[in-house]
Amino acid sequence: MTIQQKIQQLREELHQHNHKYYVLDAPIISDFEFDIKLKELQQLEDENPEFFDPNSPTQRVGGEVTKNFETVVHKNRMYSLDNSYSKEDLLDWEKRIQKIIGTTNIEYTCELKYDGASINLTYENGAFVRAVTRGDGFQGDDVTTNIKTILSIPLVLNGDFVTDFEMRGEIILPLDGFEKMNEERIANGEEPYRNPRNTASGSLKLQDSAEVAKRPLDCLLYQVVTDERKYASHFESLQAARNIGFKVPETIALASSIDEVLAFVNAWDTKRHELPYETDGVVIKVNSFQQQDELGYTAKAPRWAIAYKFKAEQVATVLNEITYQVGRTGAITPVANLEPVHLAGTVVKRASLHNADQIEKLDVRVGDTVYVEKGGEIIPKIMGVDLSMRPTDSKPTEYATHCPECATELIRTEGDAKHYCPNEFGCAPQITGKIQHFISRKAMDIDGLGGETVELLYKEGLIQNYADLYELKIEQIIPLERMAEKSAQNMIEGIEKSKEIPFEKVLFALGIRFVGETVAKKLAKHFKSIDNLMTADFETLVSVDEIGDRIAQSILDFSNDLGNIQLINRLKSYGMQLEVSAESLEGQTDKLAGKVFVVSGVFHQMSRNELKKAIEDNGGKVSSSISKKTSYVVAGDNMGPSKLEKAESLGVPIISEQDFIEMIN
Ligand code: AMP
Ligand code: ZN
Repeated sequence: MTIQQKIQQLREELHQHNHKYYVLDAPIISDFEFDIKLKELQQLEDENPEFFDPNSPTQRVGGEVTKNFETVVHKNRMYSLDNSYSKEDLLDWEKRIQKIIGTTNIEYTCELKYDGASINLTYENGAFVRAVTRGDGFQGDDVTTNIKTILSIPLVLNGDFVTDFEMRGEIILPLDGFEKMNEERIANGEEPYRNPRNTASGSLKLQDSAEVAKRPLDCLLYQVVTDERKYASHFESLQAARNIGFKVPETIALASSIDEVLAFVNAWDTKRHELPYETDGVVIKVNSFQQQDELGYTAKAPRWAIAYKFKAEQVATVLNEITYQVGRTGAITPVANLEPVHLAGTVVKRASLHNADQIEKLDVRVGDTVYVEKGGEIIPKIMGVDLSMRPTDSKPTEYATHCPECATELIRTEGDAKHYCPNEFGCAPQITGKIQHFISRKAMDIDGLGGETVELLYKEGLIQNYADLYELKIEQIIPLERMAEKSAQNMIEGIEKSKEIPFEKVLFALGIRFVGETVAKKLAKHFKSIDNLMTADFETLVSVDEIGDRIAQSILDFSNDLGNIQLINRLKSYGMQLEVSAESLEGQTDKLAGKVFVVSGVFHQMSRNELKKAIEDNGGKVSSSISKKTSYVVAGDNMGPSKLEKAESLGVPIISEQDFIEMIN
């Protein structure tokens, strides 16, 4: 056997073992034996680089780092799905499609709606080529290196199937893997992730593919898209896809009437909680490809498919106590502490009560039996009270009057739903919350420092505010509990590096009430420096586009506070970016001042985001819908027909990408 043959044989063998393990869940060799073979292959490949293959099993461990994911236009648009919630909705849908195709003879496939992030896998000549996120449906991000680390996705196909096709599926994070990840995070003093779906979709965009490889992601496939007319029906094509190695769930079924569809829905409404992953509905598709073609698409979704959403699950349990949480801005959130109860696969002990109005509206009282519901979020909601179960001695809830953390009297301003603790600089969760916000990813993005460590540093008296971070010395940190020298080093370096973070993010990081990410960007762009912003008066502030009275007043309050002025002066002395850098001012003009643009379709010379940025950099505004105020529509390929119609009827000029480029040059 030649070396090339040996390499080939090992690759094939390892692909087979991956399939047996990750798709069929029936491995035939031990992990140890697998590793030996993989190492052997790795060594042969290292010694014979001329036989490199991007789809080799050795290429799945990750390690490549992507700074910017490339935008890729989908060959076939990724549509969304219309929703239905009742039998009537489904019967209406059936009537509509029967009318279009002129027959009552329609077969359906029923699939569960897997709750994760959609992915489009392209295969050419039976080999995996690339993976792209759904994005806006027309174009998405190339996340190939990350997706390759998911071992249930076949890279090489052997057997009878179509040659060139796209495989659509959902990247999911199975529940047990999700829980394990969170246990580790909690043990490391990190915030647990909120839910499997967001964690799965966040994983796709991680820059370090080795990090992705560590996550127990999986991919469930639900659609074969191809021009080759090899299969007559959706069900048949999915069976064939499964046979060639794709993970197509066994839960899919055929139905010959809406009644049969409903039987599938009802059966899975409860059984779905036994599945190892989350689902949020059923997707019903017309099975025959020919009928699918006749039905076609609306502007948004295929006419031949519809999603049926499961109702959120509700249970009744007793409310034992209402406690109050203090957020980083001092906002108070009432929390219902419940008699533990099973709901949608987890045990629920706490639920959100939102605010005082909500408690009053529902008339929730301690001792009540309440209905708890779980939607998409991890923290469930109280939906109502079973009044027939109310104890006779029950008294209406009196909302907290004082902060549970620092005993300061709470305030509530007109028009605000929430109560606040005004003790901004003396209330522990507000102090640490501000610092935690400051270091967070979208703000200063400080590597090597997490939320729990902030609490520890505060408890040890090492920091009182975010400026104190920049005075920390490594000798102070090393003696702390659970702190290795290496992590201390990383933390100091992370803090040092944050001095390069651009002004708009620093402004967001400061945690001025009502100044979120977008507002911070607007303010940074308009005022260009913290000094200009902090000396601006009310009139100047509200004259800025989209800055209202509430934000303006909050900025004034911040700027007039002596403590804040001192903090800002300290940040300046550490060399942080408190003004817009010369570099980012470059290329900015006022050429498009006062003009409002709507961008639609797919572009060639720049991506949609670059186009939007170019509009903003030149002083223009981007809006998402066409109105009388729109100055221009920049139209790319495949501009939506409804947008086109609207622009024409309002007489809004439609310009091309090229026209736009000439406009700014
Ligand atoms: P929506 O985002 O609500 O418009 O629903 C469309 C999304 O449902 C698709 O982009 C898929 O990511 C997802 N989905 C989950 N399971 C399925 C399935 N079995 N068939 C089609 N789409 C599915
Ligand atoms: Zn307080």
